[in-house]
Amino acid sequence: NEEKSLNFIELIIEEDLKRGFEQDKLRFRFPPEPNGYLHIGHASSICLNFGLGLKYNAPVNLRFDDTNPAKEEQEYVDAIKRDVEWLGFEWAEERYASDYFQQLYDWAIDLIKRDLAYVDSQSSEEMAKQKGTPTQHGTASPFRNRPVAENLELFEKMKNGEFAEGTHVLRAKIDMTSSNMLMRDPIMYRILNKSHHRTGSNWHIYPMYDWAHGESDYIEGVSHSFCTMEFAMHRELYDWFLDTVYDATQTRPKQREFARRNLSHTVVSKRKLLQLVQEGHVTGWDDPRMSTISGLRRRGYTPMAIRNFADTIGIAKRTNLVDVSLLEFCVREDLNKIAPRVMAVLDPVKLIIDNYPEGEEEWLDAENNPEDESAGSRKVPFAKELYIEREDFKEEASRKFFRLTLGKEVRLKNAYIIKGESVVKDEKGNITEIHCTYDPDSRSGSGTEASMRKVKGTLHWVSVQHAIPAEVRVYDRLFTHENPDGDKEVDFKEYINPDSLKVITGYMEPSLKKAKEGEQYQFQRLGYFCVDRDTTPEKIVFNKTVGLRDTWAK
Ligand code: ATP
Ligand code: MG
Ligand code: MG
Repeated sequence: NEEKSLNFIELIIEEDLKRGFEQDKLRFRFPPEPNGYLHIGHASSICLNFGLGLKYNAPVNLRFDDTNPAKEEQEYVDAIKRDVEWLGFEWAEERYASDYFQQLYDWAIDLIKRDLAYVDSQSSEEMAKQKGTPTQHGTASPFRNRPVAENLELFEKMKNGEFAEGTHVLRAKIDMTSSNMLMRDPIMYRILNKSHHRTGSNWHIYPMYDWAHGESDYIEGVSHSFCTMEFAMHRELYDWFLDTVYDATQTRPKQREFARRNLSHTVVSKRKLLQLVQEGHVTGWDDPRMSTISGLRRRGYTPMAIRNFADTIGIAKRTNLVDVSLLEFCVREDLNKIAPRVMAVLDPVKLIIDNYPEGEEEWLDAENNPEDESAGSRKVPFAKELYIEREDFKEEASRKFFRLTLGKEVRLKNAYIIKGESVVKDEKGNITEIHCTYDPDSRSGSGTEASMRKVKGTLHWVSVQHAIPAEVRVYDRLFTHENPDGDKEVDFKEYINPDSLKVITGYMEPSLKKAKEGEQYQFQRLGYFCVDRDTTPEKIVFNKTVGLRDTWAK
């Protein structure tokens, strides 16, 4: 039953199609403001809009909502394009609200002439006082009935940069008694004597979001303009502004709202992410701990994982906090299919095989990916001295400990069965060497009876003399609180986790020598790791993407 699987946004479109709206007039947009990098919340909006485009074979524009030069930059435009492309979506056209400044200005003049807009010369404090409250009507500005000719003259001077910021605004003349506060003569333009990243110093006035957004949708022929719930009250104004320019031969855009998606243990707000960057809590917008698309990419997330995540949480009417473990589940699921398996030891202790010939080495076959036969195999070197994980050995262990202990057997992955024999300790009692013996007939894949022997537990390892040291960055949640943004009394930065990054040296099998930036691997038994861009010919740097299973204690 297909009807059932439609989300409420798709139902709105289906309804419109049923009522006779032509499918080939469907057109959507994704409208970021270039005032920061995209984050995981934006991924929901991107997947929604571009997903609809694919579903209905309709064009989707990438529209930069660049109406506030004080906060916008070309760097952000570039980053946004990179991220949308990386997610695998293609926009029909790259558009900018700033492309429409002249058209918007012309329309504003028309509104003044029709007595639907006026220049207000009060301070913002005075205007705020007159706004009233939801239960109390506002009061008209003394400039509300300014003659049209005077409004035209002032507005032109505003545009030409003849006034200081804050001296005048252009307001729509709507209704100071409306129960919707946004309809009480909203501001359409303010003076900003700032240079814009695209229009330079051409303009000294800039349109407000409400005036620019719907009209931009209209200019582009957008049929359905989806935004987040905080714009629900703006819809009336969106429609009012549209009415002033609407021509029945054109598509009339329809604004509909869906819920914002928040992610646990992080913040999804460009303004807050910018604070983390500017105050040095992270190394940049693409710090692997950030909830940005670029941070997730650097962390080792795949486009597929992010798209699956967005599809899994779907589109809702009510805001909720999605647990980050769902995002981690999605990346694990994808990496399990595609990431080559390798062996790396992150907390090494030396294992010496007493009965293995000194100075000898052999290169053993290791399968690259049991989930993908076409991935083939590689050779890993085996020798007398190996590293294993410190936590894989216990001198005295309970019967439930299926790793190495004295007197018991385990298998070394892709290699032999060994038995723990003795340990060497330093003066503080720390184990510095574990000695064992191996069964020479037990080599994996050799087909001997001994090789088929079942032993509980398989350990990963690397050969000491062949191992290559690498820097490994292990991340924890950036915030200790599930919802750092949830309490208005507490600054979200109070919840920053001081231990969100641990840098260690790990020992890798030598096949990783040729590992390249961006590549993902499964370090067997440990998790998924990717090669960071800080890698140099001298040193490989890995980021831990995620562990093999969800070990996060709530
Ligand atoms: P921020 O507070 O991070 O700046 P924003 O909504 O102001 O977010 P925009 O650049 O205007 O950022 O967002 C582009 C589109 O993405 C908008 O349609 C917006 O509603 C949507 N969007 C932003 N954040 C989320 C989120 N957390 N969940 C779903 N959609 C979002
Ligand atoms: Mg916005
Ligand atoms: Mg914003």
